[in-house]
Amino acid sequence: MTQQPIQVIGGGLAGTEAAWQIAQAGIPVILHEMRPKRFSPAHHTEHLAELVCSNSFGAMASDRATGLLHEELRQLNSIVITKADEHAVPAGGALAVDRGQFSQELTETLSSHPLVEFRRGEVPAIPEGIVVLATGPLTSPDLAEDIRRLTGMEYLSFFDAASPIVVGESINRDIAFMASRYDKGEAAYLNCPMNKEQYLHFWEELRKAEQTELKDFERETAKFFEACLPIEEQSLRGEDTMRYGPLKPVGLSDSRTGERPYAVVQLRQEDKAGQLWNMVGFQTNLRWGEQKRVFRLIPGLENAEFVRLGVMHRNTFINAPQLMHPTLQFKQRPNLLAAGQLIGTEGYTAAAAGGCLAGINAARIALGKETLTLPPTTMMGALFEFISSASPKHFQPMPPNFGIFPELGVKIKNKQERYGKYRDRSLADLAHWIRNS
Ligand SMILES: Cc1cc2nc3c(=O)[nH]c(=O)nc-3n(C[C@H](O)[C@H](O)[C@H](O)COP(=O)(O)OP(=O)(O)OC[C@H]3O[C@@H](n4cnc5c(N)ncnc54)[C@H](O)[C@@H]3O)c2cc1C
Repeated sequence: MTQQPIQVIGGGLAGTEAAWQIAQAGIPVILHEMRPKRFSPAHHTEHLAELVCSNSFGAMASDRATGLLHEELRQLNSIVITKADEHAVPAGGALAVDRGQFSQELTETLSSHPLVEFRRGEVPAIPEGIVVLATGPLTSPDLAEDIRRLTGMEYLSFFDAASPIVVGESINRDIAFMASRYDKGEAAYLNCPMNKEQYLHFWEELRKAEQTELKDFERETAKFFEACLPIEEQSLRGEDTMRYGPLKPVGLSDSRTGERPYAVVQLRQEDKAGQLWNMVGFQTNLRWGEQKRVFRLIPGLENAEFVRLGVMHRNTFINAPQLMHPTLQFKQRPNLLAAGQLIGTEGYTAAAAGGCLAGINAARIALGKETLTLPPTTMMGALFEFISSASPKHFQPMPPNFGIFPELGVKIKNKQERYGKYRDRSLADLAHWIRNS
């Protein structure tokens, strides 16, 4: 029986990697890319894996989150990271590339692979058979509509209005206290109390803080998001707007004084282990440096370490915790897989990582083998475990970070030393996984 080709839709970072992994497993693959017949608002070339903004794949050191992801991808023979290494340009500690050469060579490598058929043109609906969806944050409208038909209206988002996420151990617990408003249910929030003077200072600084420029297509989308106002926009509407919104102090008393604070910033637990905390209602367009400066004025967050800063931008992504397994298969259709920004991972390297696992598993389905989950102690495994098990109600995209890792057996206070141990454990576990899969 001749092998039906697997179809990969989208020739971005995730789709290019997925097609490569499938072809390397000996399975024919059709890679669909709509450019240059149709362009997304952010893409400008006809090449595969176009880097739409910065040319950096993040920090290179393997005891940093992206650096560890690079190492893991090297172990898995990723074509994206191989070509990034080959076309690297000096960028301090980051892995940055000559974007033109990088994309051009990936295009040539994939197009000349005997098992890859490269088809230019938009795919408006999800085909039958084994399919990997990798159409990214700017998925074409017809296909997005078809994904919505498959998954249900409420499981597809078009805009990412995400608040910053803070590492739990960087929050000052001498100031922040656990409580829910009116003591309802379990105490699920960390509360940072402010007195009047602290609040007014914070309000003044927030009003003055510098914002990022929205692109035209993002400004259009943002118009539909009046319900989710950026925190700085709320500050501009008046001195008390935030105190009647996300910073309202009602139903809370400061555990140290027993009194109601003037204002309260709440942080909601983001992961099962309670290592990550989301600043409730702090979706923002502020520049990243400004977010750090102004949000560290909040009592309890003086030394806050952010794993993700707030963003508001156009971003098509599915509710992965509701819809997907950590193998990157859809629960309702196991021969349909997805990867990249579409499943709620964030960043170039994470997109390539998703493409890598989705490609490996798509090929295994074609070969009649069981699909695989990566060890949760690896950065890839932890990321896919997170996106498939986070709270569906509050799901927002997540970049690679050490906050999503299972803890080590021993407590190591020194962060750099701890991250080094995470790295050692990850690379050993991945090598073992590769030998046994
Ligand atoms: C404006 C913008 C700037 C960003 N900047 C950065 C950054 O600087 N650094 C970073 O790490 N991350 C950045 N990101 C986030 C993200 O990492 C990138 O978008 C990344 O390219 C995602 O990879 P992907 O493979 O999921 O999607 P993409 O790289 O976008 O690839 C998806 C591909 O699918 C194609 N496609 C879409 N619909 C169809 C269809 N129906 N049929 C056929 N083809 C289709 C598209 O043309 C595209 O080539 C940015 C995102 C956006 C939107």
